[in-house]
Amino acid sequence: MEDNHIYQYSLLNALMDGVCETGISAAKLASKGNQGLGTFARMNGELLLLDGTVYQLQAEGNVRQADDSDQIPFAVCTNFVPQQTKHVQLKDKTDIDSALSGFNDHAKNLFITYRINGHFSHLKCRTVRGQEYKGQPLAELGKKQSVETYENVEGTIVGFRTPKNWQGFGVAGEHLHFIRADRKAGGHVLEVQAEAGVEMQMAVASNVHVELPTGEDFNAARLVTDDAGVQEVEG
Ligand SMILES: [Zn+2]
Repeated sequence: MEDNHIYQYSLLNALMDGVCETGISAAKLASKGNQGLGTFARMNGELLLLDGTVYQLQAEGNVRQADDSDQIPFAVCTNFVPQQTKHVQLKDKTDIDSALSGFNDHAKNLFITYRINGHFSHLKCRTVRGQEYKGQPLAELGKKQSVETYENVEGTIVGFRTPKNWQGFGVAGEHLHFIRADRKAGGHVLEVQAEAGVEMQMAVASNVHVELPTGEDFNAARLVTDDAGVQEVEG
């Protein structure tokens, strides 16, 4: 993949429909970029790709390094080369949006990928526990997610911002995943605070490559955009 192009496997809409039995291998995903996020087969935990390593962020905040053959039913990644770096203070998650707009006010209808490094005073992260039966929709899983709170931790957030009003495709979404510096805890970020400031890097992406699953489960998916459901599980 070229620098700052986005590669995505499957669609968020398919994941919402519970299409997550198989996918691409973790090794293939790692070959597409240096940072990214997604989930694992049966939505067992959150995925974070950081500097070429695929991590599985599991319930209760546990972290496991993925095997090359692990199946990834949904992921988005990029070969991230920062275009700008700034020191930003975050009093909550909306400050991330403000910082991204502040980086580049001509990217309103483009994708932005980013990375935040440093000391976070507060983080609330969730991890999906995995399907209890085949085809269980993500909206239902979201109600039983594991939620952990971290105070005063060092770590890294990897994020993707999709243009507002980009609906109906299920591409990227408003996704940000955190991993602690010791690589022993992490999850999908619901709340974030870093009043003292953190280093934020970003790059604009105008190329998005989407690879679609070819299996019967994907064929049978309704792929209806469920904004309320997405909002509920993505926080
Ligand atoms: Zn997530």
